[in-house]
Amino acid sequence: MIPNKVPLAHLPTRIEFLAALTKTLGGPKIYCKRDDQTGLGFGGNKTRKLEYLLGDALQHKAQTLVSMGAIQSNHCRQVAALAARAGLGCILVLSGKPPEIATGNLFLDNLFGAEVVWAERDNRQQVLEDTVNQAEKLGRKPYMIPYGGSNAIGMLGYYDAIKELRQEEDLLGLHFDWIVTASSSGGTQAGMILGASAWKFKGRILGIAIEGSSNELSGTIANLVKESITNYSLDLSIDSDTIIVNDHYTGAGYGVMAEPEIEAIRLFASKEGLLLDPVYTGRAAAGLIDLVRRGFFNEHENVLFWHTGGTPALFAEPYLSLLQCH
Ligand SMILES: *Cc1c(COP(=O)(O)O)cnc(C)c1O
Repeated sequence: MIPNKVPLAHLPTRIEFLAALTKTLGGPKIYCKRDDQTGLGFGGNKTRKLEYLLGDALQHKAQTLVSMGAIQSNHCRQVAALAARAGLGCILVLSGKPPEIATGNLFLDNLFGAEVVWAERDNRQQVLEDTVNQAEKLGRKPYMIPYGGSNAIGMLGYYDAIKELRQEEDLLGLHFDWIVTASSSGGTQAGMILGASAWKFKGRILGIAIEGSSNELSGTIANLVKESITNYSLDLSIDSDTIIVNDHYTGAGYGVMAEPEIEAIRLFASKEGLLLDPVYTGRAAAGLIDLVRRGFFNEHENVLFWHTGGTPALFAEPYLSLLQCH
């Protein structure tokens, strides 16, 4: 049985045809699913996951949401917004050092009233556990939301999203041959793969890895899918060849914006008035653009670029300065 979620997201998100980008690139028809517009503190893919995670937190009578991420984590910014909205406390364990001026997502974390605990990237899992234990002792009833909201519960948001997509395909009278999306902690892609099996989505789902290797991420995704099938006794099975991850675009690593991302951000902005972000969607779009140029897609195919959000990071250093000097 699928658990209950708390409805928060602005759904269904729009699907837009990107005519100018399609023309410029000269390949398949490119559409965009606007999950950057899901609501909740500027929106993004975490809203759908957090609907389920909040449902679980409330069932556990939680009073404080605790999570972790990078200094410009979109996930943490959305957790902070959620906590404010739900009247809960919020503690974020962020990797890095407190900057002089909080910009982008970190600025928003502060505005939403989240408490920030700083950690090194290598020990943030430990700091997270210590933080949860301490909150427990203080009687704050903490609920730990995993990195990226990616666990068997959170991923159900994207299981539902494929049902939504199937309905939109029927309304639009077309089907998508490909979904292309950023993939990092794996929950989004895992949910989509599970949903594709449940709701009979016929296209393929291509995850552009943001960091790490294709093998690693595919393994994470396979485990997440298995876990939800078991936990919720779903009568579904997933073929391992439906897990498609491309790790050619990870560049110099997580959060390092370089030429491909800058080109993608500028192209989407100037051709379509659409904002991408420096870490996730800029990288995924750079992958999409490169694959189109290499003739990876057939010209008659419909490709859905699933926009997962992240745009507040555009206003964070070092990205802002790097984009300005271009
Ligand atoms: C978290 C995030 C992703 C990655 O989603 P996962 O479920 O972690 O793979 C992609 N895009 C944006 C903007 C994100 O914040």
